[in-house]
Amino acid sequence: MTDIVVIGGGWAGCSASLAAIKAGAEVLLLERTDMLLGCGLAGGIMRNNGRYTAAEELKRLGNGELIDAADACSLQVNISFPGHEHASLYDTVSMEPVVRRLLQDMGVKIRFESRVTEVVKCSERRIEGVVLTEGETVAGDVFIEATGSAGPMSNCARHGNGCSMCVLRCPSFGPRVSLSLAAGVADIAGTRKNEQYGSFSGSCELNKNSLKAELRNQLEKKGVVVIPLPESYVNLDLLQMKACHQYARPDYVRNIILLDTGGRVKMMMPFCPLELLRTLPGLEYATYEHSRGGGNSLRFLSRAPRDNAMRVTGLDNLFCAGEKAGFFVGHTEAMVTGSVAGLNSVRSVTGKPCLELPTSLVCGDLIAFENAALADRQALQKRYTFAGGEYFDRMAELELYTTDHDTIVKRVDKTGLTGVFAGAKILTQTTTSQSDDTGSETLPQGDVRHRHLAAVSGQKFI
Ligand SMILES: Cc1cc2nc3c(=O)[nH]c(=O)nc-3n(C[C@H](O)[C@H](O)[C@H](O)COP(=O)(O)OP(=O)(O)OC[C@H]3O[C@@H](n4cnc5c(N)ncnc54)[C@H](O)[C@@H]3O)c2cc1C
Repeated sequence: MTDIVVIGGGWAGCSASLAAIKAGAEVLLLERTDMLLGCGLAGGIMRNNGRYTAAEELKRLGNGELIDAADACSLQVNISFPGHEHASLYDTVSMEPVVRRLLQDMGVKIRFESRVTEVVKCSERRIEGVVLTEGETVAGDVFIEATGSAGPMSNCARHGNGCSMCVLRCPSFGPRVSLSLAAGVADIAGTRKNEQYGSFSGSCELNKNSLKAELRNQLEKKGVVVIPLPESYVNLDLLQMKACHQYARPDYVRNIILLDTGGRVKMMMPFCPLELLRTLPGLEYATYEHSRGGGNSLRFLSRAPRDNAMRVTGLDNLFCAGEKAGFFVGHTEAMVTGSVAGLNSVRSVTGKPCLELPTSLVCGDLIAFENAALADRQALQKRYTFAGGEYFDRMAELELYTTDHDTIVKRVDKTGLTGVFAGAKILTQTTTSQSDDTGSETLPQGDVRHRHLAAVSGQKFI
């Protein structure tokens, strides 16, 4: 059996692991921290704008388990906030254990606190193993790098405002390492205004209990609260720094926008001094989680060159996914690129041609569009997401954006790729309520998904 080694357990690595195991491989996932999901531990927004279309495409293509799991953990469904429609917000506390169990139930072997620091090559174009911090070498047939693009701390210090003790916890678990670079392939670094390197994460998290009861109740009821900022507090420069171009709109610096991501509250601003925050109504006792008021993690410093099958240029057996594979922002984007990398890692050894998703699907178009755009130096400042900015405009122009389930299903079916990541069996599981004869607890995925679909399409949920 083919041995696939996935490095990095964020949404991209999790998705790649699932696709590879469903394609028939043995999969080992190496994660440097003690938890999966990476930046996804501080995220939560799904299905906003074009992410809805992409999520439904991915399900129809057969790798929808993670979308279903996120739906199942969503406490807020079909909410709107400036520039964003029909979003859902997963609970950032309960999400990780659910994904961990899902992967383990599917047979993915996970090793935590296993930070890869080097690669061992057997020829110019082939890797035979990766080396962990303690010196152990882990061998494999094919490797998938899904290490993200944030950190290490030196990058946050040099190009940002210093380590913000973010959710990636570099001080505890050690820095991210670019494995493609270690294998001899130069990274491409994203820039922001004035040719500075990287961009700041566009949101940070507050402790929910530190909000005044009235504000907390309002947030839990509506999912979103918008608090206008006094004019003297407005810092328009923040818009140029954001990784998330979909939130680079004046609304997001003229207001504090809070979203209910369960145990923690998502504040849609890269950073805001605590003293300032505490002058606002309801936030008098506000406390940060995973971050500090003066900084945030710096991302997009380490993109590997790749083809549209997600294979790293110049290496035969290294694939990449998520932020490592492009200037992609988002969980859904990581799941999509992870799916392609996972399937192709197996195909590359079994002799089947590698899959490039067609551009008639948003999932394929995003991957191809981002790659083609790199020819232009301006692209280093761009970020790509189904949720907004340039790529969402493109989706609308090409009439690819839709929330109509039947249209999406027909579009995928027309490509002949229905269930390509999974085969018919898995596809059935993700489109009906799950029955589980293994005795383990069943995810309430069907309910939430149907509630979401019904809410968006205006049907009554029963
Ligand atoms: C604060 C914040 C909020 C966000 N909010 C949202 C949101 O609400 N909705 C949304 O769609 N997107 C959001 N995003 C963006 C989104 O989280 C990311 O684009 C996406 O999750 C990236 O996934 P990834 O798997 O590519 O990388 P990451 O999430 O960075 O995961 C990489 C993983 O690799 C591991 N790793 C790194 N190096 C090594 C190594 N050498 N050995 C082993 N493991 C290693 C890391 O520990 C990590 O777990 C947010 C991002 C941030 C930072």
